[in-house]
Amino acid sequence: MASIYEYSREELASLLAGEPRYRLDQLWQGLWVDGVALEAITTIPKSLRTRLRNQFPPSLEVANDVASDHGSTRKWVFRLENGSTIETVLMHYDDRVTVCVSSQAGCAMGCTFCATGQAGFSGQLNVGEVLEQVMFATREAAPARLSNVVFMGMGEPLANYHVTVGAVRRLHEYRGLSARHLTVSTVGVAPAIERLAKEGLPLTLAVSLHAANNETRDELVPLNRRYPLERLHAACSTWLETTGRRLSFEWALIDGVNDTDQAMDELAPYANSLDAHVNLIPLNPTPGYLVRGSSARRVAEFRDGLQRRGVNATVRNTRGRSIAAACGQLATVTNAKRRSIPVRSS
Ligand code: SAH
Ligand code: SF4
Repeated sequence: MASIYEYSREELASLLAGEPRYRLDQLWQGLWVDGVALEAITTIPKSLRTRLRNQFPPSLEVANDVASDHGSTRKWVFRLENGSTIETVLMHYDDRVTVCVSSQAGCAMGCTFCATGQAGFSGQLNVGEVLEQVMFATREAAPARLSNVVFMGMGEPLANYHVTVGAVRRLHEYRGLSARHLTVSTVGVAPAIERLAKEGLPLTLAVSLHAANNETRDELVPLNRRYPLERLHAACSTWLETTGRRLSFEWALIDGVNDTDQAMDELAPYANSLDAHVNLIPLNPTPGYLVRGSSARRVAEFRDGLQRRGVNATVRNTRGRSIAAACGQLATVTNAKRRSIPVRSS
């Protein structure tokens, strides 16, 4: 069933045929500006709210709700209509409130260090399911204003291309989010990056690099065998030239694998030639990959080493480790076995 968040203003107008004209403004204000639930749009008569709610039941059912970092990180497991589950994470920072959304149920890319990749693929999300994650988190974040949306949850956004583009477009046009507040993270689907560059969307692109030599990257990110570093570099250049926006590389530091001085020497020219920013994240442990993340000391050394080589590099602090809500730990199958603090379940 369609989600009301997929409807354009014109489509909503035709749903409201026979109602006074100002109802459309009230509905739009409630759905997109105030970001409240349909049944809470009190400017609209109850009977109409009920009719719309019956026509558009929520596509996401909360299956689990956990909190960590003293409540500043929340993770929900949602069950979709087809029975598969996805995860969404809400993070409150001093200067922003970010939701991390899933673009697929599971992921088919099979990155060895990633819990989602280890669990495999179980289906595509539709635009409504992506937007409902954002709007659910918007309501839960209140009174704080949800400011950022990152496509860094389960799945590869560019392997669900039209849905990702459709969701980003609506978040920009209907919710007013722009490039600094919308980030899509990709494992490096080169042709899709080139296509995305031409969409004219206000968007920040993050590329999950993790290794700057093909041998290591082939091991960590199997898609590298199809689109090796040279091909990815060409796609990143197209992104830079076409959009004029700086991209960032994600690099999960793995002890002895990609945190060596040699790794710095390989990464620095790759990143510098694309004027890319590098985000360092210590690897989060996952059950299917037994190599450890780098120590905090090595993470700092790696950052300093990159900076000495002229790279703009920062360390991203990981949120939600204790509830398996950190990047790459999203996999409902394995999470079920972990200890977590239940807040509410249904
Ligand atoms: N599929 C996309 C987006 C989802 S993954 C992508 O790969 O970019 C979001 C981020 O989490 C990616 O940068 C990914 O490489 C990272 N990640 C995956 N597993 C991780 C782990 N165990 N520790 C740290 N980061 C991880
Ligand atoms: Fe998929 Fe991203 Fe995990 Fe790789 S890192 S398996 S692309 S979710």
